[in-house]
Amino acid sequence: MSLNQTLDMWLALPERKFSRKCFRNSTTIACDCSGFMTLLFNALGKSTPYQLDRPKAVHYYSILQEIGSNHVDRLERGNVLAWRKERLPKSGDTGHVLLVAGKAIQSGDKRYLLPVIDATKRRNGLSQREVEVHTDDRGKLTGIRLHLGDSKVKRTPIYHHAISDSRSCFGCGLPTRVCGCGTIDAVLDAPPVIILRHPTERKRTLSTVSLIKQRYPAVLVKEGEIFSPLRLPNLALMFPGGKLQQECEQSAEDSATLILIDATWRKAKKILHLNSWLQVLPRVELSPDKVSDYLLRKVSKPKTLSSIEAFAAVMNDKTMEGLLRAFMERQIAVMGESIYLKNYRHYLNFSDDTSGRSHN
Ligand SMILES: [Zn+2]
Repeated sequence: MSLNQTLDMWLALPERKFSRKCFRNSTTIACDCSGFMTLLFNALGKSTPYQLDRPKAVHYYSILQEIGSNHVDRLERGNVLAWRKERLPKSGDTGHVLLVAGKAIQSGDKRYLLPVIDATKRRNGLSQREVEVHTDDRGKLTGIRLHLGDSKVKRTPIYHHAISDSRSCFGCGLPTRVCGCGTIDAVLDAPPVIILRHPTERKRTLSTVSLIKQRYPAVLVKEGEIFSPLRLPNLALMFPGGKLQQECEQSAEDSATLILIDATWRKAKKILHLNSWLQVLPRVELSPDKVSDYLLRKVSKPKTLSSIEAFAAVMNDKTMEGLLRAFMERQIAVMGESIYLKNYRHYLNFSDDTSGRSHN
C-alpha cells in the first residue's frame, strides 16, 4: 500500500488511542508519536533509525539532522519531522516526531501553519491537525507551537526529510550507496560528549557525525557558529592548549561532559573566538597513545584529530574504531581511489598507500 492509502486508512479507523504500547488491527490504532512512526515504517517496509525495534523521537531526530533540512520551504507532504530534548529523561518523552501532511502556509511574520499527522495525548492518539512553525529571517525552523490554542512556543532546532527518499538511508543516516545498516550495535545511553558542529560540516559527502551516531544514536549535536552556554556541570572542551587527557584521568572519572567541535581547524578556532563561554572551560587534549595505531598510521598534523577519531579515543571504544575502518574501506570502494585521495587527505587515518586496494 502507498503512503497516502495507509494514512487514509489509519485516520479512518473507528478507534484511535494514545498509548505508549503501539498496535494496530482492523478497528484500532493505538500509539504515541514514535509508535506511529514505528507502525508507518513497518507498513512501508522501511528500516527504522539504527534498526531499533521501537525507536524514540530522539532517534528520528538524530537521522533527520544528518539527511534532512531545517528550512520551512522544503517542508512537503510525506516528510518526517522531529525535535529532541537536550537532556534526555530516563523514561518518557525524548522529543516529538510527526509526519508533515502538506505545505507550510505563511500566517504571520516568520510564522507558518503546517498540516501534520501525529499522535498526541491531547488528541487522544492519531489525528490530522495543524501546528505553527516559527523561523528566523532566512526561513530556518527555530520553534513550534504544538497545539494552536497554547501560548507556549517551543524554541528548538527542527529537521525534516521525505520518508520516501531512496538516496538517503533512514536506518543509518548515510547515503544509500554506502549504507551502514546492521554493521554496528548501538549504545543507547547518551555518551558524555556533546558535539558542536559548524553548519558547513554537514554538507560534506561524508559526515563523520553520522558514523558516531550509528554507535551513539543519542549523542547531542548542536549546529551553528554561536551557541548558548550549556547548563551542565563539569564541562570540558576538547581543544589543543590544555592538559593531556592522561593527566586528568582522575577527574575524567567524575562524570565530566566533553565538548567536541566538529569543524575545520580554522572554523573551530572561529567558534572558540565567538563563544566566550567555551574559552573559559577547562581544556582536554588527547595524548597520542590514547589513539590506536591504525588511526595514527599517517598523521599529517598530529594535533588535529577528525571528530570520529577523537570520539573513539575519548570513549576508548575499539568497536567504533573498527566501524571507522570498515566504513573508510567501503567508502573508498564506492567513490573510487582518485576521489578519495583528493577529498580525504585531511583525515588522520588517510593513507596514500594504494597497493592494497584495487582501482576502479
Ligand atoms: Zn542504512
